[in-house]
Amino acid sequence: MRKLSSSSVRKITATQVDDFTKCSLKFSFTEPTEPTELPKSMGAIQHTNRGDSYTSHQQVGKVLHLAIEMLIKDEALDVDDAWQLAFDRIIGDREAVSEVSVSRNKKRLKRRIQNLREFIDNRAANSNPEIHAEKSLDWNDTRCKLSGKLDLLIVDSVSTIIDHKKGSVVSDGVVEKKHRDQLAFYAHLVYENYDIDRVDCWLFSLKDGLVEVPLTCEDIVLFVEPLLANIEDYNNRVPDEQPAMPSDENCSWCPYCDRCEKFWIKIGSNGFNRLASGEAIAGTILGEISIAKNGKSTFRVDAIEGTKSGEVILTEVPRRVLSNNELSEGDSIKAFHLHGSEDNEILTWDDRNSRLSRN
Ligand code: SF4
Repeated sequence: MRKLSSSSVRKITATQVDDFTKCSLKFSFTEPTEPTELPKSMGAIQHTNRGDSYTSHQQVGKVLHLAIEMLIKDEALDVDDAWQLAFDRIIGDREAVSEVSVSRNKKRLKRRIQNLREFIDNRAANSNPEIHAEKSLDWNDTRCKLSGKLDLLIVDSVSTIIDHKKGSVVSDGVVEKKHRDQLAFYAHLVYENYDIDRVDCWLFSLKDGLVEVPLTCEDIVLFVEPLLANIEDYNNRVPDEQPAMPSDENCSWCPYCDRCEKFWIKIGSNGFNRLASGEAIAGTILGEISIAKNGKSTFRVDAIEGTKSGEVILTEVPRRVLSNNELSEGDSIKAFHLHGSEDNEILTWDDRNSRLSRN
């Protein structure tokens, strides 16, 4: 486990701040690993390691970001063309993404893009600011390196940050804390890298449109100072294990449940109210695994830990998950982010979210 010192290659990015703040153990699992250490099988689309594994949802987000970047740089480009170019570049024909999500997000972008273009034109109307898309900025101190890629940065005496989001950013009329924190992180980087008077922070949400997030210099300090103190604590604990913070919210979509002892302990003591990601089991495969003509398999598991206990049936598991894990009768597995139902013991694999590893 590496410290987050500025001399180390490890750094913390704006998108990792939420994980870092909520569960240090989860953050520590995002340590880069060698490709040979790749977990034997995960349900999500994988790249170099599990911390860098991209779900279909994230892939669509990357397409969206690239499409917006193109649309801002080229006013003559329309959304269909930008989307197609971005899709080909990010996804091509290599990996499956949800077509529903693709068409829904493209439709929303068509509705919103003109507002964003006009907003940028207004901000640039009376001066000649630098306009950057996907701008990387760093800041080092003795404790860590903070690093961020800003979706859109307009550098002027009053500068503007805009962060793009597919989904809604407002809950009960208030901008969600994680988005506010992310913008505070970016604003810190902008103040440290440019000689400017002020930064205005905005979100460009496909659902909510342009949403201003007012952040004063004091707000930014109140965010950054505790973050730096937490990083110092994290560094002081290295190389010991970082503390786990199991909760419904933190663990629901955590991709590291199989490596987290506290997660299984909490399930065992009925400590979760409801995991949004569904069922999780640890147990032993019973009997032979048969694969149907459609390449999906069904097998029985004697669950000794998790949201179910006793004999359960795991169904719709793709052949690649079996072969990647070299699974057979008697193997111990952990499987999570599964669909289930209260009234039966059948657990169904969800190809976009479910994960499985052999112990
Ligand atoms: S399962 Fe929960 S407690 Fe464990 S690392 Fe993930 S978020 Fe943290």
